[in-house]
Amino acid sequence: MKHTARTLFLDATDAARLVAAIGPQAAIVDLAGQVRQAFLHWDDFDKSARLASHSARGVIELMPVSDGSQYAFKYVNGHPRNAEHGMPTVMACGMLAEVETGFPLMLADLTLATALRTAATSALAARAMARPGAATMALIGNGAQAEFQVLAFHAMLGVREIAAYDIDPAATARLMRNLAGVPGLSIRRAGSVEAALAGADIVSTVTADKTRATILTPSMVRPGMHLNAVGGDCPGKTELHADILRRARIVVEYEPQTRIEGEIQQLPADAPVTELWQVLAGHAPGRASADEVTVFDSVGFALEDYAALRWLYVAAQAHRAGRAVELVAMPPDPRNLYGWMLAQAGDNETGRSTPRQEAVA
Ligand code: NAD
Repeated sequence: MKHTARTLFLDATDAARLVAAIGPQAAIVDLAGQVRQAFLHWDDFDKSARLASHSARGVIELMPVSDGSQYAFKYVNGHPRNAEHGMPTVMACGMLAEVETGFPLMLADLTLATALRTAATSALAARAMARPGAATMALIGNGAQAEFQVLAFHAMLGVREIAAYDIDPAATARLMRNLAGVPGLSIRRAGSVEAALAGADIVSTVTADKTRATILTPSMVRPGMHLNAVGGDCPGKTELHADILRRARIVVEYEPQTRIEGEIQQLPADAPVTELWQVLAGHAPGRASADEVTVFDSVGFALEDYAALRWLYVAAQAHRAGRAVELVAMPPDPRNLYGWMLAQAGDNETGRSTPRQEAVA
């Protein structure tokens, strides 16, 4: 069988226009369904903790996963001080490939998709872990991820009231401006973490700092709260005081990875945790009582990016987004790579251009 397909290339603008056309909230809800399905097929995946390369200012990570039919990987960084240079803290791109041949189906920006899938996964966890009827959320850290978290909790749990706090007041002002038109959502600015937590059923911590931070301390946490801890996702980068974790039910994405990167790096290696797939499959409870404090120790797992890439691939084709590119060499005689190279040089010299933009077969 001759493979004639080109790779779909979805750049950041393509992805942004696609998500805006679908609607960010609809996109999150749809993607959450796919993330859930991926977690429910847990045993079908070839999983590994991500490969991290640390530096003084941040981390660069590679996140591969396969279900035997499709292979996905994401490249992602985390540099909390990037904003000082006018760059995002988190930037990502990734690839979806077919396992049967290894052919790359799509290369895409995943910066936006990372925000969508992180929010979708947070809300999926919270739906199983927060007290029923939870309607108020404190949002600590109002940066790039923040709006997506709000939209996910609004759409998937019915959260209506947000108390937002950031050490940078401009970040909270931007969040309030961006979400001003969302029906049924009320956002108030809080003057401190404590003030944001007053009356909150759910607390989402989405801060960025490469340090052992204690954004939340035990005295701030009330019985029954659900904590969605998103910002602690690297060795030496945490948000919760360890005593909060010692008294809470903790759910993680993939235990071998979260032991290294999550809030639970502060606990002994045998401290009990439950994996999210077990909760979503109904094998383990997300919460045992109304008074229990629950923690989703989110670090971001490759399975979520696999779901995001598949979701993007289908949505992009349905909306005719992106373009087909010759990402990998496809010589007419697959073993004559050398001859193909010479033919391309000849094309160049005669001014002939090779077709670069074709429909994805
Ligand atoms: P960002 O830099 O855009 O925003 C971070 C915000 O946190 C900023 O507005 C900053 O002022 C604020 N902040 C920093 N320290 C604070 C403090 N002590 N109290 C209150 N606010 C504080 O970053 P982002 O892209 O929004 O990402 C937020 C965090 O989430 C990062 O740490 C990132 O690594 C992490 N993240 C996790 C996942 C996951 O899957 N768990 C996915 C994406 C990002």
